[in-house]
Amino acid sequence: MVISLRSRLTWTYIFFAIICIAIISILANITLERQFRSYIKANIVKTNLQIKKGIIQQYQTGRGWNTHAIEQIGVQSLERGLIITVHDMEGRTLWDARAYDYRLCEQMIEHMSKNMNSRYPGWQGSYMENRFDLMKNNKTIGTMSIGYYGPFFLTDTDLLFINTLNHILLGVTLFALLFALILGAVTAKRLSDPIADAINAAEAIAEGNYRSEYSTSSRVIELQRLGSTMQRLADVLQNQESLRKRLTADVAHELRTPLATLQSHMEAMMDGVWEMDKKRLEVCHGEILRIQRIVQDLSRLSKYESEPMQFSRFDLTQLIHNIISSFEVETVNNGIKLSFQTTNSIFIDGDRDRLSQVVINLLSNAQKYARPGGVVTIGLSETDATVELEVKDNGIGIDPSDLPYIFERFYRADRSRNRLTGGSGIGLTISKAIVEAHGGTIKVQSILGEGTQVMVCLPKRQSSSANSC
Ligand code: ADP
Repeated sequence: MVISLRSRLTWTYIFFAIICIAIISILANITLERQFRSYIKANIVKTNLQIKKGIIQQYQTGRGWNTHAIEQIGVQSLERGLIITVHDMEGRTLWDARAYDYRLCEQMIEHMSKNMNSRYPGWQGSYMENRFDLMKNNKTIGTMSIGYYGPFFLTDTDLLFINTLNHILLGVTLFALLFALILGAVTAKRLSDPIADAINAAEAIAEGNYRSEYSTSSRVIELQRLGSTMQRLADVLQNQESLRKRLTADVAHELRTPLATLQSHMEAMMDGVWEMDKKRLEVCHGEILRIQRIVQDLSRLSKYESEPMQFSRFDLTQLIHNIISSFEVETVNNGIKLSFQTTNSIFIDGDRDRLSQVVINLLSNAQKYARPGGVVTIGLSETDATVELEVKDNGIGIDPSDLPYIFERFYRADRSRNRLTGGSGIGLTISKAIVEAHGGTIKVQSILGEGTQVMVCLPKRQSSSANSC
């Protein structure tokens, strides 16, 4: 059977309350019953002795028995459910409750039987008698018997006491149940409301509505985390969705220009408006190369985003030295000086190929946007938990209005100039994706006309739980 969390919690509370109360009631009843029975039995013995003592006191040596006082004791005892018979030394009856009032004696026994049956339905009791020798100064002065409903009986007062106790227990039980019901309902509501909100938010997200604000006032840590996770999920999905939409628009936009150039050139040549000379074919070839570069960059980006990382421990200093050597020809041709002073090994846990791509992207940008005779400085340092890589150039710099967007796909700060450099605006997007996949950060500072500085922070170990960057 499927039931709501709220009902489940409420019923669980009630169920546990019933179990606890039942256990407490049963234990209390058993203990109480046992104690009460032994108290009643001890009380019968005590009362018998008291009566015996009282009767003995009614004998005066020389004067004999005070039958009047014995009768008083007998009547009082009868009222308490005890049937007394007293005989003197010669066996003569001094007082006999039955002779005094036979009906009352029978009624009394019957009354005690009723009391016992009302408390213990089906109780099998019977009339019992205790016989005593009456002694004074070590001399037998008579005999007496005390009859009662045995093995023990409950007087009206006893019955009232035990019934009141049971009523109190029942009252406490009902109160506890009511309390459990209210507490269960309130707690269940407090727990289930944020979950219901999270379900609504998840449904809204499933329907593509990422904008709905999700917040929870719950003070339960897990529910707070559920709330913030739902909000983050909505934000991430919204981000992904807008990235996906923008990627399609960006790709279309990027391909439109070279394709339009190709189309117009081809049509003009086919219609005979233009002659098919080497120069025009070179323009077309250039546009085809451009389209090819965009497609290559896109497939590289999708590879980095989808393929699993291959972590290993390697020397980053060595890797950078290798990459710098591969740039040597290019930098010499452009009249740019590459400076990297670090010689000590700095080891890092990372995907070697992907991190190589980051260094290549940053160096290629630095020398692409440097001015002839410019200097590109590479810095590498380490702390206990991180490695800091810095690539600094004194090139053209980036306009502050472009700075927030340079990590976005296809974003190029200076489009006219970038067409010449051949950049497709995807290098920094790839670098950022790789650095973040390592748990690191990448930041850019730039002054237009003065130069650019890219700072990358990478955690040395992937196992460290705290993100140190
Ligand atoms: P691209 O392939 O066009 O270089 P990137 O994603 O690497 O693409 O860079 C995005 C844009 O950021 C570049 O088009 C360029 O305008 C700007 N940029 C990146 N690095 C530098 C730099 N070192 N100096 C000046 N501008 C830069």
